[in-house]
Amino acid sequence: MRRTLGSVCVYCGSRPGARPEYREAAIELGRALARKQITLVYGGASVGLMGAVADAALDAGGDVIGILPRWLEAREVGHERLKELHIVDSMHTRKARMIERSDAFVALPGGLGTFDELFEVLTWAQVGLHTKPVGLLDVGGYFEPFRALVRHAVIEGFALPEHEGLFVSDPDPHELVEKLCSFERPVYGSKWVDGPKGP
Ligand code: AMP
Repeated sequence: MRRTLGSVCVYCGSRPGARPEYREAAIELGRALARKQITLVYGGASVGLMGAVADAALDAGGDVIGILPRWLEAREVGHERLKELHIVDSMHTRKARMIERSDAFVALPGGLGTFDELFEVLTWAQVGLHTKPVGLLDVGGYFEPFRALVRHAVIEGFALPEHEGLFVSDPDPHELVEKLCSFERPVYGSKWVDGPKGP
């Protein structure tokens, strides 16, 4: 069944990255979300790819919600043109709020903060805390090592093959949003009751 997405949470670098394609992809995604009337939910900053995706969505007439922890607001990285900027008490509250507020998630190239957010939202999906789609905007093959790491966990018996189906990937923002809309969650048993039953 096709999903209608009202809001998409974007995780991405607070730096612009080493290649211009990263910023171009962030801009294209921001525009695509605005044109599809999908609200952008993100970390609320004005810097790096985060600022690029938010500016592009706003310039194309889209709605953008930023969720920023108080300590980052104090550093004045908060974006000033947002429809809503929610200031929360901690990084934990912020990540939970971003997940609650969004119908789907997209990771763009980014650093440790992006990986943390991506792994958290996938972990929550893995244990069934949410059933929302997660997509990787795979600009220039940036997420190939990520997919390889997850495959490694499957091969070594720490994740189920079905867990690779918890996310979709595409280098094109429009195609990726299409994949999120047609996403069907993989069906599998609990990873904690399968496998060897003890001595
Ligand atoms: P990183 O990939 O390490 O640059 O971290 C970016 C991700 O972590 C974003 O998706 C944000 O939600 C969060 N984050 C990291 N740094 C900031 C910042 N200066 N302002 C707002 N959010 C940030």
